[in-house]
Amino acid sequence: MEQRAVPDREDRHTGTAGPASGDPARHPDGTDARRRIPRTDVLLRDPRLAAAAHRLGERVVKSAIRQAQDRAREGTIPPERVPDTALALVPGTAGGLRPVINATGVLLHTNLGRAPLSPAARQAVVAAAGPTDVELDLATGARARRGRSALAALCARVPSAGDVHVVNNGAAALVLAATALAAGKEIVISRGEMVEIGDGFRLPDLLVSTGARLREVGTTNRATTADYAAALGPETGFVLKVHPSNFRITGFTRAAEAAELAGLGVPVVVDIGSGLLAPHPALPAEPDADTQLRAGAALVTASGDKLLGGPQCGLMLGREELIHTLSRHPLARALRVDKLTLAALQATLTGPPTPTATGLTADPAGLRDRAGRLATALSADGVDARAVESAATVGGGGAPGVTLPSAALSLPEPYAAALRTGRIPVVGRLEAGRCLLDLRAVAPEDDERLAEAVRAVRPGARR
Ligand SMILES: *Cc1c(COP(=O)(O)O)cnc(C)c1O
Repeated sequence: MEQRAVPDREDRHTGTAGPASGDPARHPDGTDARRRIPRTDVLLRDPRLAAAAHRLGERVVKSAIRQAQDRAREGTIPPERVPDTALALVPGTAGGLRPVINATGVLLHTNLGRAPLSPAARQAVVAAAGPTDVELDLATGARARRGRSALAALCARVPSAGDVHVVNNGAAALVLAATALAAGKEIVISRGEMVEIGDGFRLPDLLVSTGARLREVGTTNRATTADYAAALGPETGFVLKVHPSNFRITGFTRAAEAAELAGLGVPVVVDIGSGLLAPHPALPAEPDADTQLRAGAALVTASGDKLLGGPQCGLMLGREELIHTLSRHPLARALRVDKLTLAALQATLTGPPTPTATGLTADPAGLRDRAGRLATALSADGVDARAVESAATVGGGGAPGVTLPSAALSLPEPYAAALRTGRIPVVGRLEAGRCLLDLRAVAPEDDERLAEAVRAVRPGARR
């Protein structure tokens, strides 16, 4: 109980303990401050906290109250500040996940939830949150194909696909394909494409978990069409091509293309990973669904929350009869997406350019201008801020080795932790002893909030 709380950020910067100087646990009249900490039931009658409880639920508000009371008990704040502190600790929503500003310079940051949804997709999610016609034809009153309009929107974007199906994520798409097309059989795959996708999950393990066997061909750096051809037989379920989306092998390399493999007489499944539906001029080496299907792939799988810029989901595009088999397999029911995902996917496919698309193509000169304006404004407020050149990346979503010229706001290193834990959390990156806030993944309309977040944690700022 007597442990002293870690001082607040502002204390570390200024060496003071905030507005109440001296030991805040002691009242000038000598009474123990702990006795003056307001009780929970009293605080719940504060009109502002009562309104928050009405909106978010009492559990959420009680948790904020408890944290504020703890701070007063530890002496971090005086008892008089408990109501305001509790109010400040009430989250904006009851969702639990805190919205952050992604200033890492990684466009699709897996730890930050990959692609941010477009405004159109966000509105679609909210609109779909109530009862919807997700599986009902309102005209006839009969049951209808689940998510048919989102699926139609995906088909419309990739005319070379005979049909499409959507599951929970890219990994689920592979599991469904392996189970429905190769359980008890062999999946023929190049040794150079046995990929770990992150957090210790490896595609070969995932594929084998379905009951399929892997038939490895070629070597780490080279696999020819002849290597694949020699491995085919009555046991073959399909040939799988996996895009090495998070690493690059350069030098003496050779990989067979879908077009060559399509001539071997077995289905070719291509996991493109990134979710590009068509070629992207800024990413010439990144495979896309349309090109792979035109080259003869029977099925293409991809993630929805990478370069497509949509919600987490797994896209499956391919031959009509194959998609029918996949979508009617019992496992499809376990991997199906919810109505919120379908709504966000459709809005992503039919709506204006996504934040991911905008971030990918943002003009470096424009990013430099924004960094310059932010640095000027913050310097005027006494922040040691400079505009610097930076190098952004696409990230876990694809295009390994591609750097995107960018611009950043450079701040003293202690800002990194302070900004992460501030009221508006900002995640930057450390480089050469400075905290860089790269603007490529920050929406221009968030610049003002970014500046506000920096001001709020600058040395001497009152929180
Ligand atoms: C990202 C990725 C996956 C996994 O997709 P999730 O949507 O994260 O499940 C599989 N294969 C490749 C090539 C990928 O890039």
